[in-house]
Amino acid sequence: MSFGERKSHQSGFGNTGSSEPMIGVHVLAQFEFCQRAGVISSEVASEDTGEESESPQRLDYLPDYEESLIRESLTSTMMAFWFASLLLATGVVAVGWMGNWRIEFGILSAVPLGVILYWWFRFVRAIVILRSRLDAAMNAVPREPNLLHLSEQIFNWWDLRRAGYQVDRMPEPMTDSSRGLIGRPWRVLRKGSLRIPVFRKHRGKQVIHNQQRTRIAAYCHLIESCEGSSAPFGLVMFAGSYDVVVVPNNGANQATLSDVVHRARQVLSSRNATHNIPVPARSACESCPLGRPRSFVPLEFDLPESLAPQSIRLSTGVGGLRYHSECGDRFDWIPPHKDATNLRLS
Ligand code: SF4
Repeated sequence: MSFGERKSHQSGFGNTGSSEPMIGVHVLAQFEFCQRAGVISSEVASEDTGEESESPQRLDYLPDYEESLIRESLTSTMMAFWFASLLLATGVVAVGWMGNWRIEFGILSAVPLGVILYWWFRFVRAIVILRSRLDAAMNAVPREPNLLHLSEQIFNWWDLRRAGYQVDRMPEPMTDSSRGLIGRPWRVLRKGSLRIPVFRKHRGKQVIHNQQRTRIAAYCHLIESCEGSSAPFGLVMFAGSYDVVVVPNNGANQATLSDVVHRARQVLSSRNATHNIPVPARSACESCPLGRPRSFVPLEFDLPESLAPQSIRLSTGVGGLRYHSECGDRFDWIPPHKDATNLRLS
């Protein structure tokens, strides 16, 4: 079977005709965190990307994890920088000359000069960032986990790359029809017969929770069952850092995966049960993106506020403003998110 067998279903939960309905790895990870989050994820048609959902918007589009791409980008940015520098120098001379001739022409010609200066600074900033990323890659020393004594420990992305791990992107999700699992890690590192799935975490502290262990166990299972390669561990990468945590694909994590799959199937197969799903510990809701209150914008629904759909669970906060949240809408309550407390929603 090829690596990344073609997907037959991309949503979190559906029937593919196999013995078990398909369930996405991202849905399982959410179930491990909170059953309500799992139900919401299963109802949204989304594909597993191997990254934490609700990834923050990137402020730059510079490559950061592949040395060849960083080098390419640095070369093209340097060329653009030299061109902008030439334009800038020409512009300064032109503005001086015009200003000498007629002061108003000098002021007018300073406007395009300002635009060039803006771009010049952007190129300088990009060069500094790319150079520091390239330095991190070049200064790496080969270091990799001991496969005989795997434990959760921090490694450096570039040290692993120096140790011979190459990066692959997976064009299609992997599917295990017999177990009804579908998912795609963010990247896969390969070395010999090893295939190491990588998951990227965007929020919170650099701490591993059971939801990430479940996810890594699921990816390792998919790799081993779809490709027949060995996946003794996976990596959790933290956005904005080159730190990666090794998560062993051991018996304990596989047992957690089986347990989560079982619980998720029980909840999702019983439609009525989804209305009576227990609330998790308050601390889980306090920073959960699904419980974060958002301003109610009637135009968002193309309706006047008085005709808001019943599925929207509106609550009123400080100043009489109206809010709702994904989890609040789905389960008809006000999740105790820290923003909801600050807004004193009722
Ligand atoms: S807000 Fe709370 S109950 Fe809702 S999905 Fe998040 S953690 Fe679960």
